[in-house]
Amino acid sequence: MNIEEKIKWNKCKNCGFLQHTTHLRCLQCKSDKFESIEASGICKLLTYTILNALPMEFRDQESYALGVVEFKNGVKALGQLANKDNLKTGMLLQPIYKKICNDLNGTEVYSYIFKPLE
Ligand SMILES: [Zn+2]
Repeated sequence: MNIEEKIKWNKCKNCGFLQHTTHLRCLQCKSDKFESIEASGICKLLTYTILNALPMEFRDQESYALGVVEFKNGVKALGQLANKDNLKTGMLLQPIYKKICNDLNGTEVYSYIFKPLE
C-alpha cells in the first residue's frame, strides 16, 4: 500500500505533444518516441463537477467533487477533490496519495486526491 503511483504522461519527442501513456503513437504527429513526464508540485484546477450518483465502491459517501487539474509542466490529471465546497477554477491544489475507498471485495483502494492549498 506504499506503492505510490506517479501521475505520468508521455511527451512526444518529435512535436512535444503531451498525452496519456496508453497511446502508442503521438495523437498529433504519429511519432512513437516519447519521454515520460511526471507530475510534480502543485497544480491548478481547470474544471470540476460534483458527482451525486457514485460508483458502488464509494457506497459510504453521498457525493464528491471530481476535477481536472494541470501541473506546471503541463501534465494533466483527473481526480477526486478533497472537498466539495469553496471550489473555484484556477485555484491551486496539492496532490495527496491516500485511501479513497474499499472496492467491492473490501480491498482498500489508494489514489491521488487533490486538496486546495490554504
Ligand atoms: Zn508528436
